[in-house]
Amino acid sequence: MNQQLKPASRLSVVFILVVVLSGSILTYFSINNISNQKVLTEKRILEEQRELSVRYSEVLEKQIENVIAGFTNEISPVNLLKDSLVKKATETDFIIHPFILNNNGDFIYPNFRGIPENIHIQKVSGRFKSAFSEGEKAEFAENNWPAARENYLQCLRVSTGKYDSAKALNALGRISIKLKEVENAIQKYNAICLNYSDVPDENGIPYVYYALPRLLKITAAGSEKQLSVFEFCLEHMEKGIIPLNFNTEELVAQIVEWVQRMQLNNPERKSQIIQLGDNIRKQLDFINNFKDELPKLVANEGINNRFPVANGFKIINPLPENEQECFFISTEFATPAGFLINRKKLLETVLHPDLQNGFEFDYAVEFPTRYSPVTTGQNLIYSSQLSPYFPEQTIQIKPGNENLISDLIQRRSWIYGISTVLLLVAMVLGVVLIVRDIAREKRVAQLQSDFISNVTHELKTPLTSISMFAESMLLKRVKKESDKDEYLSIILKESDRLKRMINNILEFSKMEKGKSEYHFADTNLASILKAAIGELNYWFDTDGFEVLTELDNQISANVDFEKMKQVFENLLNNAIKYSPQTKKITIRLYVNTDKIRIEIEDRGIGIPEKELSHIFEKFYRINQKESISGTGLGLTVVKEIVEAHDGEIIVTSKVGEGSKFSIILKRQTELE
Ligand code: ADP
Repeated sequence: MNQQLKPASRLSVVFILVVVLSGSILTYFSINNISNQKVLTEKRILEEQRELSVRYSEVLEKQIENVIAGFTNEISPVNLLKDSLVKKATETDFIIHPFILNNNGDFIYPNFRGIPENIHIQKVSGRFKSAFSEGEKAEFAENNWPAARENYLQCLRVSTGKYDSAKALNALGRISIKLKEVENAIQKYNAICLNYSDVPDENGIPYVYYALPRLLKITAAGSEKQLSVFEFCLEHMEKGIIPLNFNTEELVAQIVEWVQRMQLNNPERKSQIIQLGDNIRKQLDFINNFKDELPKLVANEGINNRFPVANGFKIINPLPENEQECFFISTEFATPAGFLINRKKLLETVLHPDLQNGFEFDYAVEFPTRYSPVTTGQNLIYSSQLSPYFPEQTIQIKPGNENLISDLIQRRSWIYGISTVLLLVAMVLGVVLIVRDIAREKRVAQLQSDFISNVTHELKTPLTSISMFAESMLLKRVKKESDKDEYLSIILKESDRLKRMINNILEFSKMEKGKSEYHFADTNLASILKAAIGELNYWFDTDGFEVLTELDNQISANVDFEKMKQVFENLLNNAIKYSPQTKKITIRLYVNTDKIRIEIEDRGIGIPEKELSHIFEKFYRINQKESISGTGLGLTVVKEIVEAHDGEIIVTSKVGEGSKFSIILKRQTELE
């Protein structure tokens, strides 16, 4: 026994060693692979970040080039330059404002005249002069307004240029109001607005700045015609034809308010006028913020933070205490000109998702303003200078998923972990199956060897009686005729027993080879049972069995007569063998719920419950007293034959009380 166990346990040990060894190697490589993966991924991320940073810088440079392109150095008429700058600004989202200065550092665009320095000495004729002073005398000293009006009308008649015409019209407007001739006043002031909008008075203030406030007052109920006059003035202010000054903001606000009060059929027109007001306000804001600073920036060539781009443009950046904005200034036009740029917006235009196409990972991009050197560290943040024009501007690129590496490692660890565990489980399962197989083989080998000694013994017993009785007969030792008959019947019965045993062995061997042959025919089952009982009658009689039969003689089934007889003989033979005390056997044949049942019940030793599942196994015998002979094949053959008939065999048993074997066959069996 021990010797048989050894190879199996040795094999298991080898197998387990193989499992442990390969498992460990696998785990080692998995861990190695994971750390390699980490390094490779970090490298890949860094490469992608570098590439992305280059792409962003390139796009930014293109954007900058777009702003400064399209101008030629020949743009010398200020109007042409202004138009091209304004056009560029409206096309480009991140341009806050265009500007043009003259070479003295004064603003040409936006056209702002704060406190005029060079007051224009207006030339007027002597006739105009005397008529005007007459008018003023009548108006202010004598309060004789009709006389004043006459004089001013005279002025208008003799005026030869735009200055005197505007001056006369302005005085006429004023006196018309005093005379309560509103229509006249409106007409005069409108004439100033439409024809002399940019003409300044002796103080340098354009006449429209007098005309417009008055018009707003006397034309409270707005007409469409009046609206056109206001719109005309706003357009001229926006275009820089009417210079802006410190009064513009309030005046524009009043005009917008006047327009908003109007009931207009065309709402679009209203919003266009409001938009004009906004644009003028923007120009004023720009002037407010930069009227001192910008001329200094233009003049002060030496300062450090200016970076030449192309077309004579330089980027001045960042503005003191203003990191959001910067200037693009060119000094290569006839006069200095350029743009105020929203730096933040400019950078944001670069943030196009397409730039990340073709990358393995997603990245979050930021533009911190303080320069920090190129870094990449634990947190995989990559920073570098974004563009040579913005040396302090950093681009910071980090993976969209901050836990990218740890997630990756975790995922890999899971995959490796699970596959290693699965492999180990499979290997262990293999070991278990092999050990089980070995154990089963061992048991079969044991049973087989028991079988051989059993069979030898089983064959010997009937042969001994046969030869003994035959010899006695031959030597004429038996005198009485009745004894002779008895001896002969013993010889016959013993050879029957021998035949049954050999039949079982033969059937089993055919079964094993898969060569059992069946000859099915519609057969009366009671007749088979009776034949089987007949075969064993001798033993029933000699052992004194009480055999009860409850047979339904009508039941037929499609069965192999000989095979079924073998089944019943085996079961009856067992009932005889395993009933040493109460010798009572009941045989039943009946139909129950469409099934045919054949029961062979004894009052013998019974079968322990744990053995019930084994008794049909080949060579299996319950450990019992030597006296009960057998091969362990009877029930194996029974089960095989019953199943070949598409039937079922059930055993119920209680130790010391007896056993009942029930064969259940289908009623309408259609077996081939
Ligand atoms: P055997 O040649 O040993 O009878 P079987 O295959 O016919 O072989 O039976 C297997 C075992 O089942 C027997 O060894 C016996 O212990 C048990 N057995 C079979 N029939 C009965 C029965 N009617 N009563 C008690 N035990 C039985």
